[in-house]
Amino acid sequence: MRVSVQEPAPVPAGRTISFCKVCGGYTPHEWREGDGIVAKLCVTCFERDLLELLDRD
Ligand SMILES: [Zn+2]
Repeated sequence: MRVSVQEPAPVPAGRTISFCKVCGGYTPHEWREGDGIVAKLCVTCFERDLLELLDRD
């Protein structure tokens, strides 16, 4: 008997939806490793930080 499995995946692999206080809403978060710790970072904030770094003189 075949069972069709519905993929429940609006969220990309490795990401999760969490509330971000900075963004004031639910945004994709990504697990990132650094200095032996794993942190869950808001992807929107992370990309904004990157753009600000690139913008700097
Ligand atoms: Zn954010």
